[in-house]
This record gives sequence, structure tokens and C-alpha cells, in this order.
Amino acid sequence: MSKLKQNTSVNQEKQQRINRSLVINLLCRQRRCSRADLAKLSGLKRATITNIVNEFMEYDLILEDGLMEGEKGRRSIAIKINGEKYCTIGVMLTRHYYTLGIMGISGEVYRIETYNVESVMDVEAVMDSIRQNIRKMIDEEKESQVLAVCIAVPGPYKRTKERVVFVTHFPGWEGIEIEQRIQQGFDIPVFIENDANAGACAQHWFCRDDKRNKDIVYIVAGQGIGCGMILNDELQTGRNGNAGEFGHTSIYYEGAKCECGNHGCLEQYCSSIAIMKRIQDRLAKGEASVLNQNSSFADFGEAVRLGDALASDEYRRACEFLAIGIVNLVNQIDPSDIIIGDLLADVDPVKMLEIVQNTVKKRINPFFWEDLTIRIDPLEYNPILMGAGIIAVQKILEDPLQYIKKGVKQTEEEG
Ligand SMILES: [Zn+2]
Repeated sequence: MSKLKQNTSVNQEKQQRINRSLVINLLCRQRRCSRADLAKLSGLKRATITNIVNEFMEYDLILEDGLMEGEKGRRSIAIKINGEKYCTIGVMLTRHYYTLGIMGISGEVYRIETYNVESVMDVEAVMDSIRQNIRKMIDEEKESQVLAVCIAVPGPYKRTKERVVFVTHFPGWEGIEIEQRIQQGFDIPVFIENDANAGACAQHWFCRDDKRNKDIVYIVAGQGIGCGMILNDELQTGRNGNAGEFGHTSIYYEGAKCECGNHGCLEQYCSSIAIMKRIQDRLAKGEASVLNQNSSFADFGEAVRLGDALASDEYRRACEFLAIGIVNLVNQIDPSDIIIGDLLADVDPVKMLEIVQNTVKKRINPFFWEDLTIRIDPLEYNPILMGAGIIAVQKILEDPLQYIKKGVKQTEEEG
């Protein structure tokens, strides 16, 4: 084959992949629509849509679903994604446990399982346990075929061309190539993402009917403070995957030194760890509270809800500091929606929202306050776990037939 012809066929193949990805993503967003709708929304020719739809139907990736009202009252056949045939597994790793969730490619959750980690220090044991339980989940799934796995980890980690290295503050985990390690023994792809980024993807996915939600920042306010940013419908990861580490933006340059090397990082003022440290300091000074030196963060939450003065004061202070961080975020990236989730938001969502909104409103230009939405995480399931599953779905949908063909072959070999 001449070089020119070879290039043309490579380009055609690439264009076909882009078209397939466009169509399946539109269908994901629309949930149910006609072939004519897809042509209109994608700008592709009707014949191209027909070919792609036929191809997807051969692989049971999409289904016809009765009739629907079209333009000028004409009825046409509706199509939708076959959410029951294919699924993905999301994994969420924390310091004390990990959770596995299996979800259909339309986003329905089938099953969630949580496993305690005796000691996160024992890297090999934790990795083995995660691999075994993923394998068990794949084997037990009889109705649909698992296409991919995505593991959401607490940041930061460093992503280079060759590898993803885990650099978070889990002792003994530094430099671990977690994606490759979990991949061992599986012939389906394993992806990795930062937990806040995964949470942002879930928020974006479940808000997809709302035309506003193109620019979402999802803030994880827990043991650390981080955020995932989706701007113009795209996840922002930065060069190394380190974008969104806004807990390590300094709000006081002479503040205490942080483990990241900076001084006065935001998370030193409003993470759950920072709150508990201040509570202990104030108790040691003899201040009255229902809390004592052995109280946990869960006890702290209960004390806030009971109206304990010390706990309520510290909660207000932490929410105000978080709001200062949010003001900085708004001035830097100007998102349409900010969603706050995790431990701090769970304590008293109504109170948190009120404090954060009031503080942000006072400190930003009124023109920007006008159309800014700040919300507390509205999702039924953990957004980080859901987001891991969704990222796996999105990676598959970038080139669905590549993964699904492989899947069909696997079943044949096994049979
Ligand atoms: Zn820091």
C-alpha cells in the first residue's frame, strides 16, 4: 500500500472512532432518542448514524425502545443504551477501607461492597485483597459483562507518560505504580483517578439534564481538602494529574508548615484533622464541651447537631475558612457550580451551606455572585465510588468496539 493510501485509511479509522464516541456519548446524555435526533445533535449524515447504530446493535450496546414523538408529530423508533448488558467496576480507596461498586454503563448501581483494611501500611496485602475482590465481583456477575475497572485514590499522585505513581501520604505507598499493580491478572483495562476528580465526574454525569452544569467544581472536605474541576465538560487534571489540590493553596504565608512543604495551607484550617486538633487544644485549656480527649470526628458531628457551643464554634470557623478557599477558586477559575461533599458536609449540610454562602457572598464581586451556585452533594451514593465507575464507562465509550469485541472473544474462549 502506498504511504498516502495508508494515511487515508488510518485517518478514516480515526474518524470512525471519533464518530462512534460522539454518538454513544450523545445517547448517554439524551438517554433515549431517535436516529434523526442523533443526526441533528451530532451533525453527522443520517447514513453515518444508521451505520453506527447498526454496528452498536450488533454488539448489544444499544437497544430499540418503542416509539417516540418526533418532529411535526411524526413517530420514530427510540433507541437507548443497553445498560444491563455491560458494566464497569469502580473502586474507592481510603485510609481505613476500600469500596467496590458495580454499575451498568447507563449509570445504575447494581451492588456495593466495602472491605476494611486492617493496616494500610501493608501495601501488598491491600493490593492482593483489592484484586481478589474485583475478581470475585467479575465472576459473580452473571447478567452483564464487566468491561473495565477504575480505582479512585486520595491525591496527590503523579501521572507521567509511562506510569502513574502514587505519592499520597500513605506510609509505604510512595512511588507505587498502583494502576499497573492492580492490572496484573486482568485482561480488562484498569484506570486510576484522583478521588476528588472521580467525585466531580459523578456530579457532572448525574446533573447532565441540567444545561447549566458545564463547569463544576466538586470539593471533597474531609481528612484533606481537594477538588475536582470540570470546565466546559472536560475534567481538568493538569500536567501531572495534580490539578485541584486546592487544600494546599496557602491562605496565610506565615502559617504552620504543611507536609506538602508550603505554609498555612487551607486544609490546615478546615480539614477534619485540623478541626479535631483545635478541639483538643481548647479542651486542654479547660473549655467546657460534651466532647473529651477521646472523641472522634463522628462525636464532633453529633455535638454540633446537639448545639454544643465549642463544637458549633469550631464548625462555623472551619466552614468560614472553606468559604475563603472557595472565594479564591471562584476568582481563579470562575465555575458555574460548586458542590461540597464528604465528612464536613455530612455534619450539618444546612448550616454549612448557610455559612459558606454568606461568607462567599460578602467576599466576591456581586456580579459573580449573581449566577454562582453553591450546593451540598445531593447524590444518593458516594460520588467518589460512582465517579470511579463512570470514568471507566467514559474511557470505554471513547472507543466502545475496541473493548467490547475483546469481551465477546473472551466469552467465546471461556465457552
Ligand atoms: Zn500543604
